[in-house]
Amino acid sequence: MSLRLRPADVGIGMTGQRARDRLIEDLRGSGIADERVLNAIRTVPRHQFVDEALASRAYENNALPIGHGQTISQPWVVAKMTEALLRAAPKRVLEVGTGSGYQAAVLAALGVKVYTVERIGDLLRVARKRFRDLGMHIRSKHDDGRIGWPEEAPFDAIIVTAAGPALVEALLEQLAPGGVLVAPVGASSGQALLCLHKQVDGEVSSEDLGAVSFVPLLSGVVDR
Ligand code: SAH
Repeated sequence: MSLRLRPADVGIGMTGQRARDRLIEDLRGSGIADERVLNAIRTVPRHQFVDEALASRAYENNALPIGHGQTISQPWVVAKMTEALLRAAPKRVLEVGTGSGYQAAVLAALGVKVYTVERIGDLLRVARKRFRDLGMHIRSKHDDGRIGWPEEAPFDAIIVTAAGPALVEALLEQLAPGGVLVAPVGASSGQALLCLHKQVDGEVSSEDLGAVSFVPLLSGVVDR
């Protein structure tokens, strides 16, 4: 009987351990210092969150297409946003924009209870299958994420992975006192990655984490 080992199983090739280690070193070099985040990114198989034809490029530090004009975020962006969220030591996190499901899986790998919302039905169906295949229990909803998830609010942290011209007020309302909201805000050509901290007295402070480029936050839902 012959064993059919994939490169990832034996730790070589474009999806193996060496490719992942290179990515981790790259992230370290670009300022990601939180070992918990680096570990989660090393552990979650990013190649399973893209089409098979792109799997060999999954551990490059780039965004990649996932269909429907959407992208899986660049690992550096995922790392940066995850680091910012962890400041709130969150137990429950809301994500707007499931996309491939990768960011949600990275948060789940950190032991966070994840609630994720996606407006494109086809993308959500594929992401749900990935969660199942990986044995990850991630709660998800097919909806316009700009309304948040009021039945499950408040959240310790909220992450928006699509760009809008302004902050969504409804999301800020669903953030618990002491919580952190991370979102790209600005024009479609480029945004600032904002980290908002809601103080215990309800006062909100904002920090600019750098320039990013996200796909747009759109309204309504689509089935396919
Ligand atoms: N976090 C994703 C990034 C996907 S790109 C990942 O790790 O792969 C952003 C996603 O946000 C797209 O799938 C897009 O369809 C979705 N999106 C855009 N506007 C939305 C909205 N109003 N509600 C929910 N999802 C939205």
